[in-house]
Amino acid sequence: MTLSQSTINKIIHQQILVGDLSTDELSKFCQIANLAYRSGNPIINDQDYDFIYLAELKERDPNNSLLKTVEPEGQDFSEEKSLLPEAMLSTDKAYSWNEVSKWLGRLEKSANEINLAIQDIQIKATPKLDGFAGYDDGNHLYTRGDGKKGSDITRVFSRGLKVYNDSERGQGAGEIVVKKSYFDKYLADSFEYPRNFQASLIKEKELDDKAKQAIAKKAALFVPFSELPTWSGNISNLITQFDTIVQEVLQTVDFDVDGVVFETVNDVLKDHMGANRKFHRWQIAFKENKDKAQVKVLSVTPQVGRTGKITPVAELEPTLLSGARIVRATGHHYGLVKEQGLGAGSVIELTRSGLVIPKINQVLKSAPVDIPALCPSCGEILHWESDFLMCANHTDCPAQVIGKMEYFFKILANNDGFGIATIEKLYEKNIRKVSQIYALNVDDLSGMGFGEKTSTNLIAQLHRSHSEQVEDWRFLAAFGVSRMGLGNCENLLKNYPIDEIFSLSLEKISSIDGFAELTAELIIKGLKSIYDEFELLNNYQFNLETTALQKETVTLTHALFGKKVVFTGKMQGSRDEMKRHAKSIGINVLNSVSAKTDYLIIGEKVGKNKIQSANKFGVNILAEESYLSMIEE
Ligand SMILES: [Zn+2]
Repeated sequence: MTLSQSTINKIIHQQILVGDLSTDELSKFCQIANLAYRSGNPIINDQDYDFIYLAELKERDPNNSLLKTVEPEGQDFSEEKSLLPEAMLSTDKAYSWNEVSKWLGRLEKSANEINLAIQDIQIKATPKLDGFAGYDDGNHLYTRGDGKKGSDITRVFSRGLKVYNDSERGQGAGEIVVKKSYFDKYLADSFEYPRNFQASLIKEKELDDKAKQAIAKKAALFVPFSELPTWSGNISNLITQFDTIVQEVLQTVDFDVDGVVFETVNDVLKDHMGANRKFHRWQIAFKENKDKAQVKVLSVTPQVGRTGKITPVAELEPTLLSGARIVRATGHHYGLVKEQGLGAGSVIELTRSGLVIPKINQVLKSAPVDIPALCPSCGEILHWESDFLMCANHTDCPAQVIGKMEYFFKILANNDGFGIATIEKLYEKNIRKVSQIYALNVDDLSGMGFGEKTSTNLIAQLHRSHSEQVEDWRFLAAFGVSRMGLGNCENLLKNYPIDEIFSLSLEKISSIDGFAELTAELIIKGLKSIYDEFELLNNYQFNLETTALQKETVTLTHALFGKKVVFTGKMQGSRDEMKRHAKSIGINVLNSVSAKTDYLIIGEKVGKNKIQSANKFGVNILAEESYLSMIEE
């Protein structure tokens, strides 16, 4: 079967939704999209291809050849195909930690079968380049072809293409890529994606000036996988540092990277695990999870937030998204409902990044909408503030009053028990302010109908919340003033101590870096509105950790300024304290050692792995004392 160009366009523009396609049509569309991608002219983005189309095909037709064999190359080369020195397969993909962890399980199982100890399984992680795959045997460069046979494109080297890091030819598999910074600066105007440009480098026809220049400037390169910066460690290192490793590996190169490749380096284990027709079983690519789906909306209900903003909440036809069953999603504002037709029966595009709450991106198929006229919580007439539908009854709207109290304890984050259920119950008993909650005792709570044990626990938690140390900016942010989130509060308190902020002038606030005049106005207004409550709560003597004031003329001349360091082992003082101090004097503190680390600062009882990876990456190792003397200068 074939798809007409107009059908293809409609699918691309989501006028025909994936659910409307027959399995044949879906399969054909995936083939077309994949060929377009391979040839350097993608028609849809990667995420859509993986999550919407390929995922659906996997579900409907798990044996489809597109899922079982190495994808065709997309470009026709006139050269005869030659047998590759070794097979170049695709890489199996994982979109969640859960899937990576299943792969680790398979590694462990296979290791067991050959009596290899689990702690001896070595793993390495490298950035997954989004380029054009090739194999360089030293004399010839081949395309990946069908994974076994590829076309000879040695002409690319004859045209002057260099190997990454100025290293040798003949290092096997790799990718032809273009530096991201170069692409953004010189090529982004002419090419939509780096892929479009990369494909132009290998074409048979003569190179244009842009391609010649990129090659001459070593911006276009062949990168053998063996030359890529690498994280390495064992399975337990990977488990404990997964997020850090991913974030760091993704940033190690100036190329388009669309994931992290994990593989074991134990040859015996690799041999034992082998490959299927499409993937090596000892390797997996983790792609950052931006799962996407087209979902039908069953109904939309308004929800009132602590600031009076009315949020549309869509009840959805249950959908599996990055491993979780999603039945509900929150629209950003009612402007979206009104303009895009987010009503019962509409179809939306839903995305979810990692474990973050799913988000409605856009409405694909609209339906009649229902815009509430009155606040569902207090009955006040709602009004619009640009795209937002608002309830202006800030002092008496139950949802807002409850939301503010709940927010305080949530942001303080040093107590348990004051979740929405407790707060709602307190509200029923006429509690309206956090300061009233702190005035309660066990008898009061019992009298309100809380059990004896619960009452005792709640009072203990209240006590804990003001006796345990908490950063002063966190305490301030807990009041929920508009524009005074955690970051802004910290910034403000870096410039003025907390007991001075209520008397700050507009000029003083707006002269702080990062505060525009409008923000400063809102902050002054907001501070005024919480002043009484702030004073009342202050009577409970919260154990506040004072933010260090930024000195106006900071002279940071020590040798480690701006350096990337990792602390490990038992330090003479507290390690957290050392980290905090290091940050405050302009040192970049990281959690794990990578090629980018400048110094590993060691205390006592340091794990062997950290030292090994430091040696591997050529990272300088400093004892705690040397570190201290270096920052004193
Ligand atoms: Zn209301």
